[in-house]
Amino acid sequence: MQNYILPPSPVFAALAKAARERILILDGAMGTQIQSLELAEEDFNGRGPGCSCRHHSERPQKGNNDLLILTQPQAIEDIHFNYAMAGADIVETNTFSATTIAQADYALEAAVHDLNFEGARIVRRALDRATSIDGRPRFVAGAVGPTNRTASMSPDVNDPGYRAVSFEDLRLAYLQQIGALIQGGADIILIETIFDTLNAKAAIFACEEAFRALGLRLPVMISGTITDASGRTLSGQTPTAFWHSVRHARPVSVGLNCALGAAAMRPHIAELAAVADTLICAYPNAGLPNAFGQYDESPEETASQVADFARAGLVNILGGCCGTTPEHIRAIASAVAGVSPREVRK
Ligand SMILES: [Zn+2]
Repeated sequence: MQNYILPPSPVFAALAKAARERILILDGAMGTQIQSLELAEEDFNGRGPGCSCRHHSERPQKGNNDLLILTQPQAIEDIHFNYAMAGADIVETNTFSATTIAQADYALEAAVHDLNFEGARIVRRALDRATSIDGRPRFVAGAVGPTNRTASMSPDVNDPGYRAVSFEDLRLAYLQQIGALIQGGADIILIETIFDTLNAKAAIFACEEAFRALGLRLPVMISGTITDASGRTLSGQTPTAFWHSVRHARPVSVGLNCALGAAAMRPHIAELAAVADTLICAYPNAGLPNAFGQYDESPEETASQVADFARAGLVNILGGCCGTTPEHIRAIASAVAGVSPREVRK
């Protein structure tokens, strides 16, 4: 296939070497860290004293976490730095919603290039700071979210043929995002929280286009999310079916994140680990949310559950999703230090 004639980025070899030696650590949640800063609307929109906003929108921006890349860059860099120092080898950009499709809610489609470009540069700066202290190499993962629309199902029960977004809309939006993440210095592209495999396929297609334009292939990580107790994605796939739908992308890792806490995620990770001939990555939420939508699983509880994945030989990369903090990541890193990574059977 024409796909594979592109030369690979040196990150492939560096990742493979590190992954043979140990279980790699991914960072934790941005949302929890951002919430703890208790930012107001003017902190988000950057229109306080000494206006720092480059992109104006008449809509309220509170809750547009990705925009903080432009309006509170130091705060975002510090969060990335704290995760790096807690033991993360791979740190994700704060760009989960940085597509024209997701930013349309905030009327900030025009900011998308800058969000991704600066988002990657900020993580690179944070990781270089950490590496200058301890000498450990670290990788910038450009985070690509699912958007807030689904390509394979109708949001309208009375009109099952309707689609709120097309494959082509998604492909173009992802191409812009991924191109800017790469320009900003992303080492890896991480397509995450996949609830609809068709959305993910548009992101995979956009990766191929971006790599061809660059003349270089970057590693791609793919992470789905299981949203119900029957163990399927929202678009109805079991973990095995999901793997077979994305394996053509030759991802460096496949796995699951978000949704259920670690305990409920375990059988689904075990299923993927049994079928996928690539690294397995798991980053669950800190348990299930309480009645107030907050996560209260302690770092030790989360770490002991994912360490059990590790001792069972199920995983190669571990981290945290919603509700996890640098303390969770530190606890996970320490709980799996010295545990052999899962063997990848080709
Ligand atoms: Zn999550």
